[in-house]
Amino acid sequence: MADLKLSETRDLTRIERIGAHSHIRGLGLDSALEPRAVSEGMVGQTSARKAAGIILQMIKEGRIAGRAVLIAGQPGTGKTAIAMGMAKSLGLETPFAMISASEIFSLEMSKTEALMQSFRKAIAVRIKEETEVIEGEVVEIQIDRPAVAGAALKTGKLTMKTTEMEGVYDLGAKMIESLGKEKVQSGDVIAIDKPSGKVTKLGRSFSRSRDYDAIGPQVRFVQCPGGELQKRKEIVHCVTLHEIDVINSRTQGFLALFTGDTGEIRAEVREQIDTKVAEWREEGKAEIVPGVLFIDEVHMLDIECFSFLNRALENEMAPILAVATNRGITTIRGTNYKSPHGIPIDLLDRLLIITTQPYTKDDIHKILDIRCQEEDVEIAEEAKALLTHIGVETSLRYAIHLISAAALACQKRKGKVVENEDITRAYNLFLDVKRSTQYLMEYQEQYMFSEASIGDGDED
Ligand code: ATP
Repeated sequence: MADLKLSETRDLTRIERIGAHSHIRGLGLDSALEPRAVSEGMVGQTSARKAAGIILQMIKEGRIAGRAVLIAGQPGTGKTAIAMGMAKSLGLETPFAMISASEIFSLEMSKTEALMQSFRKAIAVRIKEETEVIEGEVVEIQIDRPAVAGAALKTGKLTMKTTEMEGVYDLGAKMIESLGKEKVQSGDVIAIDKPSGKVTKLGRSFSRSRDYDAIGPQVRFVQCPGGELQKRKEIVHCVTLHEIDVINSRTQGFLALFTGDTGEIRAEVREQIDTKVAEWREEGKAEIVPGVLFIDEVHMLDIECFSFLNRALENEMAPILAVATNRGITTIRGTNYKSPHGIPIDLLDRLLIITTQPYTKDDIHKILDIRCQEEDVEIAEEAKALLTHIGVETSLRYAIHLISAAALACQKRKGKVVENEDITRAYNLFLDVKRSTQYLMEYQEQYMFSEASIGDGDED
């Protein structure tokens, strides 16, 4: 009971948490891909949203592989928000993998392996499986000796040991007849349609257990008391290539998917999987669903990663790559060369570039309005105007951060609606970048390692 309560509380906490982009529910486009002024949490930035909508259409049609987009613009102009909007607009089956470029620098695996795993997280395989669904009681039957299954077919008598039934089971003439057509082996699942006595082999459902030799072969019977065997149904599984890789590469199998401890995956494993998937595609059993790989802060990648991306995009299964950066002309990591956005020219040339523009006062006002609603903060019109003014003078992000701080100030004075005084209080408590820089300039001698080079924060 205590456990139940604990998990309930945890769930509630999770639901109530509000992230930086939780107000974004899509790109806010109409059916002709025209951006609505304010829709699905999105405000302004119309040309970037429209361009993102066209990319989305390309993804949905799924025919074009290896396209890449760069979302470039000043900090806080909604690049990540647009990527989130794209993710929300994709169907559940289309994978969207999101990483920040710095995540790939880990000691656990090489950079290119980390990138490869991200790529494969963004490619799904839709596997179609035809199966017969039986409604009824499932009885597992253990046959004493391997020879018994064969013997039973001749005699029509089967000795079984199960928790529910024990003894001699009469298969009946009809069952013997239909079973006789196909060989029954250990692990087979058989459906018995009681009234007609028709027996169907449904396939193998469980692999040989480790103590197979000790207990002998198993045959599972599915009884259908008084019912017809149901018609064939098509079941569709959608898994990413990365999930298939992980399941096939480690002894702990799928558990590694939860722990995240996937380690490096050998190239042979991936090759085998790709060959298998190609076979399924040819047989019409599976199709590839290329999704989106979004790499934020892409200027943090180095020259080796960029060359990996160039090559990876040429694969016919490649997902759509979306990258974002707020950098101007800067050094390409791992080289002494400068380049626009810190991206090598050959990769830049492949990218469709979407730019985001600084927000107008009106846009900032609308975004702050949406954020207040999202954070469940009631705010007076006058206070909202002040917050907008702060947003224009400092940054949209800073103004967004002030909302919850001001709401707390309001709560403390037992107010119901956030007023100017709460905004001012929060504004005075927390510095924005400009004031913080100013402060540093004034007192820099008192800090360690201070050099008066504030402003060129581009070196990584
Ligand atoms: P950076 O370059 O610093 O990574 P960014 O361009 O990725 O910044 P975001 O993080 O997307 O900026 O935007 C800052 C905040 O403003 C986020 O909370 C985001 O959801 C919100 N926001 C930005 N643009 C919009 C918009 N057009 N509509 C609604 N919310 C937006």
